[in-house]
Formats: sequence, structure tokens, C-alpha cells
Amino acid sequence: MDIGRKLKALDRIYAVYDDFVRTQTVACRMHCHECCTTHVTLTTLEAYKICETLPPGERQKLFGRIHEVVDLQRFRPTTTTNALAELCAADGDLPEEPDEASRASCPLLAEELCSIYALRPFNCRCFISRTPCLENGFADMDEAVVAVNTLLLQTVEHVDADGCSGNLLDVLGVLTDDETRAAYAAGSLHCSGNGLIANRPMKVLKRVEPILQRLRAIRV
Ligand code: SF4
Ligand code: SF4
Repeated sequence: MDIGRKLKALDRIYAVYDDFVRTQTVACRMHCHECCTTHVTLTTLEAYKICETLPPGERQKLFGRIHEVVDLQRFRPTTTTNALAELCAADGDLPEEPDEASRASCPLLAEELCSIYALRPFNCRCFISRTPCLENGFADMDEAVVAVNTLLLQTVEHVDADGCSGNLLDVLGVLTDDETRAAYAAGSLHCSGNGLIANRPMKVLKRVEPILQRLRAIRV
């Protein structure tokens, strides 16, 4: 899929999710930012959208910030959502992910607000809670929200199946380089060579889609 089509698909996924969130009871409010940590992951497509949509001045500010925090501790995933789904479907052993305990605040926060809010990746969009996280110490998420989040995370990765995933700061760090961004847009970015993990298509859900279609056709 060419980069223009991928970006349009991503916009549509974000719009579908925004509509879904409007139907939910959500305690998230402006300036609430406990969930904004160095734990956030994203795809190259989402990072590319951020880099290419920001006005030049804002982009340079973002790149400068990313370069300032190269030593900041962060969560580095070893498996993508679609790879995990394949492992679960095959009853395989799930890989151990690094300890999450050492998460710091996301360095893209500025005065308790996200500096790229309109362009934030799906992982940020989908972290919502029915009650303020500060009250309970964790996000209170409806089961339907968890299911929709997983489905859309898989879909975003599927759209970017020839791209990569990784920590927000790492993926943005890789794409701060103009030539690397161009290589990604041309479909020739090497994931592991850049310290990222390769995305995969959504194989498991695709296999069950025919039966889902038949079930949807049943009128009750
Ligand atoms: S998920 Fe929790 S911490 Fe994040 S904005 Fe919502 S209530 Fe606040
Ligand atoms: S990118 Fe924005 S929304 Fe996402 S964690 Fe960082 S500050 Fe929060």
C-alpha cells in the first residue's frame, strides 16, 4: 500500500475510534496526564504522520526534544500486537516483556498538555478510563473498550504491515532523519537495523472474518 493510502486509512481509523469514545463514559480531562509515560509504543506510520504533519518549526522543536532524551529509560516492546495474536492463536509461549516499573513522564508533555495532541498515536488515544486514574492508581477500562482497543491496534499495525513498531521515542528518533523517513515512505525501512520490531498483517482476524460475516447476517 502506498504511503498516501496508508495515511488516509490511519485518519479513518482514528475517526472511527473518536466516534466510539464519544459513546463511552470517560473521566479523562485536560491536564490529566498520569497515563503519559515513556511506556507508549506506536507504528512507523503514526510517527511518519506526526513528522510530516507538524509545521516545520514545531517539527524541529519535536526533533530537538527527541534528541535531548535519548538516554531516558523507556519501555521497548519485543513483540507487536499482531505477532502476539498469532502466538496466542497457536498456544505459543508469550515472550517476556521488559519490566514496566521504571516508566517516566512522556517528554512530549508541555505544561501538563500533550505537545502533539491532535497527532498523538493510537496507543495514547485508546488509554481512557471511566474513573480518574489518580483515585484508584490504575485505569478503569470497560471490557468492550479493551476489545475495541485490541482490534484497532491490530488494524493500525495491519495497515502498516511493511513498517515497524517500537517505543514512541525510538520510532520518532529513527524518523527524525529525512532520508530514513523517505526510505520508510518508499517501503524500504529496515526495522531491526534501526532497533525496531517488524509489523505483521492481521492474519488471525482475517481468518475468522468469513464466519463473522455469516454471523452478522443472522437477523435476531
Ligand atoms: S487515562 Fe487516566 S490518567 Fe489518562 S487522562 Fe484518563 S483519567 Fe487521566
Ligand atoms: S505523546 Fe502526548 S498523549 Fe502520548 S504519552 Fe506523550 S504526552 Fe501523552
